[in-house]
Order: sequence, then structure tokens, then C-alpha cells
Amino acid sequence: MQLNYDNITLQSITPSWLPATITAAILRLDLLHPEVSGNKWFKLKHNLSTAMQQGRSRLLTFGGAYSNHIAATAAACQLLHLPSTGIIRGERPPVLSHTLEHAAAQGMELVFITREAYRHKTTTDWASLYPDAYIVPEGGNNALGAKGCEEILPLANAALQTDNIQPPSGVDKRAIPFSHIACAVGTGTTLAGIINSATPQQTVIGYVVLKGAAYLTGEINSLLRPGPHPHWELRHEHHGGGYAKVTPALRSFMEECYAETRVPLDMVYTGKLLMGFREDVQHGRYPAGSNVLLIHTGGLQGNTI
Ligand SMILES: *Cc1c(COP(=O)(O)O)cnc(C)c1O
Repeated sequence: MQLNYDNITLQSITPSWLPATITAAILRLDLLHPEVSGNKWFKLKHNLSTAMQQGRSRLLTFGGAYSNHIAATAAACQLLHLPSTGIIRGERPPVLSHTLEHAAAQGMELVFITREAYRHKTTTDWASLYPDAYIVPEGGNNALGAKGCEEILPLANAALQTDNIQPPSGVDKRAIPFSHIACAVGTGTTLAGIINSATPQQTVIGYVVLKGAAYLTGEINSLLRPGPHPHWELRHEHHGGGYAKVTPALRSFMEECYAETRVPLDMVYTGKLLMGFREDVQHGRYPAGSNVLLIHTGGLQGNTI
């Protein structure tokens, strides 16, 4: 299965806090598809085709009640007519979250397991419980997931050559390749694909949305192809209290940002990416002349909670 990428745009942004010496554009993966939006499609695509090639009769994966990965998997499997099972963290609530309600409506079988059992999911023998299922780890975090994410950066480079982007006046857009690529990081699978497809002259920066996720460097390294790699680093200061924690400051930043750019952000990932980017710009961490590509990884379905 292949989705049409024509809806993805590269949008130049000029929020009031961005100095004139720095240019920034956002790759709108949130516009990819109404149901299978953002980075989750790129992480799923090679997993889905492998499942089909292997003749699997079901796809099984994992997530929480608001998981963008569960939402995208349910929708993609419905498009493929491939039955899907979501192993969901926690007991079945009396009222399902919007995400789970929608996933179930798309035909996903929901199996609720205790938080304790969920912690042991990677060592549970799912293959013997679901012998015909193709198993995708939580968040689409595997080598095939990273491989699919190698397609993201070329989409931005291609858009640079088209009229999708309005460069700042007087600037020849073809003369300014991206110096920095910034992306929100959960499992790091998407960032690994971006690192694998960036040039050694570029700098890749991951804005981590989890608190205390020191293990991520090792996880990302395990998904990298043999070098040479671009310089890459993780920013751990912008999680805003931890995964899915929403502060009033984040809320008001997201509102202001929308008013200035018309780009809708999600509260868990892209809101923290843009707010982290603003803080780093204000602290001078992006040198004058930087041409920054921000990846909008989607996740807007989660805002309906
Ligand atoms: C899942 C998700 C991410 C994190 O991607 P990883 O590959 O797990 O790092 C970022 N942004 C959005 C909107 C997501 O849904």
C-alpha cells in the first residue's frame, strides 16, 4: 500500500520570536492523510508490506489509550483489509477514549491488559498466543520503522524545489539547503530514519518529550546504518514535566503559535518541539544563517482528549 504524498507541504514560518537571521520551515506530515497522519505511516509502511508478503492474517501492536500509533495502525489496517489487534495498557475503562473508540470502529480488536502485564509485553510470547499475527512493537519502533522514516527528509528536499514554499523575500530557496533538522522524539525511531538520510553537513536535533530518557541515545544508535552520520544530538530540557504533561505555558505557546503561523500543533510532541525550538533560538543555540527544517509529525488526533 502506498499513500499519496501530494498533500504534504513545506511551510515557511516567521513567528515573532524568530530573528531575521534564521529561517525556518515546517514539513506538514500532519496533512498526509486524515486518519494515517504524520510519522506513524512511515514507521508502519514497511512493516505492513512485510506482513502482507509473509501472508500474515493479522497485525498485532501495542499502545496506550491515546496512542497515535494505535490510531494510525487501526486506520492503515482497515485500508488494507488486514485484521488488527491492539494490546492496550490498563484495564478497559467504562468509557473508551476517543482514540480507542475510533480504532474499534475501524475494526481493531482491543485487548486490555493490566499495567503490570503491559510492562512485560516485550518478553511475553505473543507469537504463540497469536500464531498468524505480524507483531509491530509499541510506537512502530523497529528497523523497518526507521527505514520508512528515511523517506521523510527527501520529501522536504523535493518541496524546496517546488513552489510549495515561499522563501523569505530576496532569498533564493535553492541556495539554502537545511542546516538543521529538528524533530520530536518519543522512541527515537523517526529521528534514526532522519539521521540515516541526512548529509554529514547537516545537524539533526531531537526534542525529547519524555523525562529522564537517557536510554534513547543507545536505542537510536542501534537503528543507525554504518556512518558517516551527520552530527546529531538530543535535547532533554524540553519535556515540560514529562510525557503527555501539559503546562499552562505550553497551552498558551500553542495558541500563540497557531495565531502566528496557522500550524496546528499537538500537545504531546509537536507543541513541545516548537516550544523547545523557540527556547533554543532565544538562548542563541541556532547560529545566525541557520535554515531550520522542523518536522510536523502529526498527532493531532490526540488533541481531542
Ligand atoms: C509517535 C510520535 C512521535 C515520536 O516518534 P518516535 O519515532 O517514537 O520518536 C512524534 N510526533 C508525533 C506526533 C507522534 O505521534
